[in-house]
Amino acid sequence: MVAIISPKLLINGELVDASDKKTFALYNPATREKVADVPEASAQDTNAAVAAAKAAFPAWSALNPTVRAGYLKKLAVLLRTHTPELARLEAVSMGRPIDQFFDSYAAASHYDHYAEAWPQIQGQASLHTPGYVTMTLRQPVGVVAAIIPWNVPLLFFASKSAPALISGNTVVVKTSEKAPLAAARVAELVQEAGFPPGVFNVLSGHGLPSGNLLARHMDVRALSFTGSGRTGRLIQEAAAQTNLKKVTLELGGKSPALIFADADMDKAVEETVNSIQWNSGQVCMANSRIYVEHGAAADAFKAAFARRFATIVKPGDPLQTGINHGPQADEVQYKSVMAYIEEGKKGGGALATGGKGTLDTTGGYFVEPTVFIDTPESASIMREEIFGPVVNISTFATEQEAIQVANDTEFGLYAAVYTKDISRAMRVAKALESGYVGVNCTSPSTGHDMPFGGYKGSGQGREGWLHSMDNFLETKSIMIKVDEAKL
Ligand code: NAD
Repeated sequence: MVAIISPKLLINGELVDASDKKTFALYNPATREKVADVPEASAQDTNAAVAAAKAAFPAWSALNPTVRAGYLKKLAVLLRTHTPELARLEAVSMGRPIDQFFDSYAAASHYDHYAEAWPQIQGQASLHTPGYVTMTLRQPVGVVAAIIPWNVPLLFFASKSAPALISGNTVVVKTSEKAPLAAARVAELVQEAGFPPGVFNVLSGHGLPSGNLLARHMDVRALSFTGSGRTGRLIQEAAAQTNLKKVTLELGGKSPALIFADADMDKAVEETVNSIQWNSGQVCMANSRIYVEHGAAADAFKAAFARRFATIVKPGDPLQTGINHGPQADEVQYKSVMAYIEEGKKGGGALATGGKGTLDTTGGYFVEPTVFIDTPESASIMREEIFGPVVNISTFATEQEAIQVANDTEFGLYAAVYTKDISRAMRVAKALESGYVGVNCTSPSTGHDMPFGGYKGSGQGREGWLHSMDNFLETKSIMIKVDEAKL
């Protein structure tokens, strides 16, 4: 049974409705049934959340970091405890099968990690300027806004708020209109964890008004965004037009996987299929472009990939166990993915499997795993992010050609190379224009302590356990004149 929740905004420690009582309807993408009326944060609510965060900042930033850490640890425990409920709420919001829900554990690990990470915040000191002792201090920026997407909502909720909070900042999280329910439950858990009023605020709503207002707000000093390139550009523009807040952007991808003939083909098939199938292809770093070295191995790869992609999928109600393929997140996403598939059919490549929205067993927005072969590089399905279970497989003749096609994109989030030749792996990894490169592995394989982020249009800045706190800290230089000692 679906957990019942009456979602609220968390502003200044209080769970409240929108000030103008406005709500928006949320529909289960697996059944198209309405599941909740969600508060649409108004401009007044957004301003109130920022004002509360600003008022809470002096006391919060002055606390001993071990005290701040205590709240994060309490929240981590609550997240783990409430996993089944959070999994159900995510399933009915954006269609993630409950069997594939790992997000509350991932979110909890972020709060736990950052609770211990504060000793990493250090300045420097030197005697390199004669007559002075110089030092730097790392200080919180003040109010931080986090604007998150719907595809792995709780992960982004935590990966942005935890480093901001432990560094002494206060936070306003704006959740996605497509996946507001689990986040609204976490807002209740934030209250239960006992964070002082105003330190941690959570808003639900659309880009307009609340997202845009956070991006323009003069009292928001840093904004961490994960979402589409289109919205990222709007946020960057809004920041430039107002207070030049520090903006971190984690945007979309069109990730290539390069498979050389000497690779372990069974592993390469298994992992590249998983990369584009998990979360029904709704993953920023999914390998949506696969290039295999020309020859017999390429033909075998294409056949094995299409077979596996079509057969491992178990579509159905995300609330049931044994399901690994949920619907696309909503009607808009479904229509967008299906439009790309129709474009793909006219794009000059061959359709190897899939191509229809016929997996529907529950009245929802299900899309078949779809494989195109040899689509020309100029086609829209090769150039734009589809965000669905849709992949193209082409061949390449030389290492140079593989690098050229992989880099021929404005995206640069994650690239993979499969080969047993370590020198070639390192040559290719060095040449790929990508923030992340997997060698004999592909996305979503990542390391917690590694920086994550995009080259080119895939973003700006980096996140990761050793990196995210920097996004929310200023650096102050202090020089102290020292009089010559009279010895
Ligand atoms: P989106 O850009 O449509 O929305 C993201 C968030 O921005 C939502 O909370 C939305 O309400 C808000 N928003 C919309 N308009 C806004 C505005 N004008 N000002 C401020 N905020 C606004 O993206 P989405 O559809 O939720 O997410 C999918 C996208 O996210 C894909 O492109 C995907 O690749 C990307 N993504 C990137 C990463 C990464 O780490 N690089 C991870 C996950 C998803």
